[in-house]
Amino acid sequence: MTTVAVLGTGRMGGAMVGTLSRAGFDVVAWNRSSGKVEHVAASAGANVADTPTEAIRDADVVVSSLADDAAVESVFGQTTEALHESQIVLEMSTISPVTTRRIGERVLARGAGYLDAPVSGSVSLVEAGNLTIMVGGDGATLDRGLPVLDALAGKILHVGTLGAGATMKLAVNALVHGLNVALSESLVLAERAGVDRSEAYEVFASGAAAAPFVLYKRAAYERPDDTPVAFSLELVAKDLDLILGLADDVGLPMKQATINRETVDEAIRAGLGEHDLSALAVHLRALS
Ligand code: NAP
Repeated sequence: MTTVAVLGTGRMGGAMVGTLSRAGFDVVAWNRSSGKVEHVAASAGANVADTPTEAIRDADVVVSSLADDAAVESVFGQTTEALHESQIVLEMSTISPVTTRRIGERVLARGAGYLDAPVSGSVSLVEAGNLTIMVGGDGATLDRGLPVLDALAGKILHVGTLGAGATMKLAVNALVHGLNVALSESLVLAERAGVDRSEAYEVFASGAAAAPFVLYKRAAYERPDDTPVAFSLELVAKDLDLILGLADDVGLPMKQATINRETVDEAIRAGLGEHDLSALAVHLRALS
């Protein structure tokens, strides 16, 4: 049986533990803080490791789903030396292409395989095994990683060499975070002008703008108080910083992403950083 170590049992990593366990993998989970991992592992029938090094010891595949570059640097700083040839690492966090290349090269130097394999889609799509995963790295390693990736994804796109997955993830999130700001403004515009919230959303979900994001975020926008957080505004801010950093590196002015970053920052300053990204609409509603 293939053993998968999942490093990070936050919203995405925790849901991955459940999906991979249901798909028949032997899963061992590690998380920085212990309460969350105990709960996730108990409900999935997975094992818990006390350290990331212990988690990867007997793993065939290592899945990393951590908040940001600093978290990934910290965890792989502790574990890279313990990796060996028969293992592969799937880096699924949204981090900078520079960081993923640097860590990937250290992992490859140990003889292990490495793919940057960030994901598009949120918790509900992890649970359904229906993420879109964009992969950077070599094709032979991708073949070895496919059983695990297939369990999590409806679509796997090999977009280039090491770092290309991380690059594409920033490009697609520039689009998603733009959509989130536009959806929030459009919804509150319709409400302010007297249209019922659900009626307005029904139009968005039925018309030209009915992207999967608009469809699966419906409950969060319509009933923000009753819907669990899937993607925090703090992580949106982190993504937009990475996006603007990449834009700077390649000399591309991104005016819309710059305004979106400011809008998210306003909501965070209003105390909504831990809230779901759909809380931008809540923030706009409060600005009367
Ligand atoms: P989350 O719920 O906030 O979980 C973050 C995870 O990172 C937790 O396990 C946290 O551990 C860990 N962490 C943070 N700082 C750390 C550090 N310095 N050292 C070790 N561990 C650290 O985040 P998430 O929503 O699951 O997102 C995980 C990744 O997937 C992020 O890169 C995010 O951008 C990306 N992503 C998220 C979504 C989404 O819809 N949520 C969609 C696509 C991609 P503690 O529990 O100890 O804090």
